[in-house]
Amino acid sequence: MSDTRILTPIKAIRAKCMDCMCDSHVEIKLCPITDCSLYPYRFGTNPNIKREYTEEQKQAMTAHLRKNNATFTGENSQNA
Ligand code: SF4
Repeated sequence: MSDTRILTPIKAIRAKCMDCMCDSHVEIKLCPITDCSLYPYRFGTNPNIKREYTEEQKQAMTAHLRKNNATFTGENSQNA
């Protein structure tokens, strides 16, 4: 493994799950090994931490996702 990124523990668990499920996000979602100790953390988030966002934060996240989605799909006119 030549990747030298330093991951948080949660992101390291996500990377392990990606490795375990051959880099398939869908397979991680469908993981049948519910008694695996990593199972609750397989999405790369801590299920014990619930975040509450303000309306401004929600709007900023929505705008960010739309911008990234437009870039990814080529819908962004700046990329044309
Ligand atoms: S939770 Fe599922 S995908 Fe993640 S390491 Fe365990 S068995 Fe593999």
